[in-house]
Amino acid sequence: DPACAEPLPVLGRDVTVPLVTGGEVTYAALDYAASAPALQRVWDDVAAYAPYYGSVHRGAGYLSQLSTDLFEQSRATVAGFLDCRPSDQVVFTRSTTDSLNLLAAVLPADCQVFVFETEHHASLLPWGNAQVTYLNAPRTPAQAVETLERALAAREPYGSALVCVTGASNVTGELWPVKELAAAAHAHGARIVLDAAQLAPHHPVSVQELDVDWVAFSGHKLYAPFGSGVLAGRADWLQRAEPYLAGGGASRKVARRADGGVDVEWHTTAARHEAGSPNVIGVYSIASACKALTEAGFEGLVARERHLIAKVREGLAQVPAVRILSLFGDDSPSRSAGGTPTRVGVISFVVDGWNSSHFAAALSAEYGIGVRDGLFCAHPLVRTLLGSEPQAQGECGAPEAAPGERSLNAIRVSFGAGTPDEHVDRFVGAVK
Ligand code: PMP
Repeated sequence: DPACAEPLPVLGRDVTVPLVTGGEVTYAALDYAASAPALQRVWDDVAAYAPYYGSVHRGAGYLSQLSTDLFEQSRATVAGFLDCRPSDQVVFTRSTTDSLNLLAAVLPADCQVFVFETEHHASLLPWGNAQVTYLNAPRTPAQAVETLERALAAREPYGSALVCVTGASNVTGELWPVKELAAAAHAHGARIVLDAAQLAPHHPVSVQELDVDWVAFSGHKLYAPFGSGVLAGRADWLQRAEPYLAGGGASRKVARRADGGVDVEWHTTAARHEAGSPNVIGVYSIASACKALTEAGFEGLVARERHLIAKVREGLAQVPAVRILSLFGDDSPSRSAGGTPTRVGVISFVVDGWNSSHFAAALSAEYGIGVRDGLFCAHPLVRTLLGSEPQAQGECGAPEAAPGERSLNAIRVSFGAGTPDEHVDRFVGAVK
């Protein structure tokens, strides 16, 4: 495919790991959905900046001023990357989980929340303070829109409402009809937040095009593993609510009152929810990744990913014992070979006769391949896909299936802009 980009340089390409069978092999990082390796470009940018590191919004010195400038420029870069509205705020957080918890903390008092049971726990669980409607798993993208519309209509009238939806599933890699869901939400006077943790690393995300109210993502899945995340979108709910964290940086003016108490005037900018000294390296690295992906061009990256997806799906289709997990019921490898993308490079599967954890451990020990096993912090979804009953188990983990029993967890292979063909070829060969 001439439009197909070369893999982008990432850290760790030459890392070797020992094999249980003896010798060593270069590590095949096929767990991008958990954390992607850093782009070399991000690492270089961070290394070039590191000697100039200084406090942000807290110093008169040259390096503090420089760090403050870089921090605020990074905010503008992220706003551009997400194609935000001019009035939107970009708040820097620790992660997607943190971003969605921040949004949950600023909901209006009477807010109703609508969320599909298929969501990652980060988008399923933070809404405890609101009245939450959990929507059943849809089996087609169109059904997702119908389900949401019906639920919104049934709950009207409400003072305010929020829909939370994931753009690309961290389990099936399937794309959700975000634009249609946003239109449905707005038609019913609700707002929508997009969990773009798995979407932003693979596809351009335009807040304006999709017409979503907020978007959240994590740096470490966007090739910038330095502990930062983003919540970007409408300023009004953010400005009206109490600060997410109380402290320095969020407050504009603090004074003792005559009655002995303390009066606080909080910022109305993004700083309101960024109390404490910010993670300038993490923020700078996110901006660097945004620039690197934009400069590389998503068109070529998407073409390359499509090529890798087809390789994996066609390879797995040749192994009768493998069952790929799919919510939207499209298991034909050809569909991802051309036309509009329907998925990102995240594929979960089970293998008949194998315990998924043992299978993943064997891929690591015998082939130097790093994948993930488990329920991927999306327990209800994975159970629906596996057809298994709820079990008591640890967060993100799963008990072992007894010999001959149906799998209670799955194996996930995921890849992206830095993945060479050799990694997916090795993976397919190992599964075979
Ligand atoms: N949403 C989705 C769809 C995810 O895949 C993840 C991470 N697996 C998260 C949210 C949470 O991201 P983080 O762990 O960086 O907070």
